[in-house]
This record gives sequence, C-alpha cells and structure tokens, in this order.
Amino acid sequence: MSRLDSFIRRLTAQRDILNAIVALVNGTEGPVLEFGLGNGRTYDHLREHFPDRRIIAFDREVRSYSSSTPPAENMVTGDIRKSGQAFIGIGAALAHADIGTGHDEIDAITLTWLPQLMVGVLARDGIAVSGLPLDRPELEPLPLPAGVKEGRYFLYRRQ
Ligand code: SAM
Repeated sequence: MSRLDSFIRRLTAQRDILNAIVALVNGTEGPVLEFGLGNGRTYDHLREHFPDRRIIAFDREVRSYSSSTPPAENMVTGDIRKSGQAFIGIGAALAHADIGTGHDEIDAITLTWLPQLMVGVLARDGIAVSGLPLDRPELEPLPLPAGVKEGRYFLYRRQ
C-alpha cells in the first residue's frame, strides 16, 4: 500500500470513529480534549459534532487554520506530556489523541506516558480515541465501526 493510500485510510478511520462515537459521548458529561490540534481538521469535526461542549485543544504551538483555532482559554500550548498533567481529573467525556508520528522510536516514547494521561483525564465511561494503541487495564477496547480495520485507529471506554 502506498503512503498516500495508508494516509487516506487512517484519516477515513479517524473520521468514521469520530462519527460513530457521538451518541456514546453524549451519555457522559464533561469536556472534550483534543491532543494534537495540528491544522485543526479534527478539532473542526469535533466542534461540529459537539457544539455545546467545551473543547480544549493541545499542541506544542498553534499552527491551525485561523477558522479552526480554539479561543485562547481552550488552547494549551507546550509538550502534552507536561501540559496534560494539569488536566488529570477533569472528567472528560472524550479524549482524542492524534499525536502518532509513524516513526516507531518516537511513538514508543509517547507510549510511555500517553496511555496513563488518557486514563487520568477521562471520566468514568469517557471515550478515548487514539492513533496509537493505549494499553491500560482501565481502557476497554470497543468494537470499531464497520469498514475500519483493526489496528488502524483505536477506540476505548474508560472503566
Ligand atoms: N488531528 C489534527 C488535524 O486533524 O489537523 C492533526 C494532528 S497532527 C497529526 C499531530 C500534532 O500533534 C502536531 O501538530 C504536533 O505538533 C502535535 N504533537 C505531537 N506530539 C506532541 C507533544 N508531545 N506535545 C504537544 N504536541 C504534540
């Protein structure tokens, strides 16, 4: 599979999962956390699906399109490994992490802290969506929407 095909499949999986979890997330109170704002594509999608939720976005710096940039009070800059710690216990209904790089050695370092952070920020029954696998006993893997291949993107519920 070419890198273009792989990229398209990953984004399709990302979108299909975000579309599929709306009702699940709506069963839980709390904000939505977007780890890895990037240019704001998934932030914009989340905003469409959850217009009444506070959505807090994180990135090293703001590089999103101006129309997809959160208000300053909902934008957290810096390394998520550190900046995320202040949000432990916030009781998020959804945390989406799109901070994988495709470089195994970098992603292995992210995986030393991201699963624990995701557990820490989520409310009970909160939903975790991630581009990297989150191997934690508190996170129950959920079935993926039809058409999304196992291992392409990851979906869990916080127990
Ligand atoms: N989902 C975004 C979108 O749809 O536009 C794309 C996210 S992009 C693939 C990943 C982003 O995560 C990058 O902007 C990068 O700067 C950010 N990122 C990765 N690791 C990070 C870390 N440890 N701390 C802060 N930001 C990080």
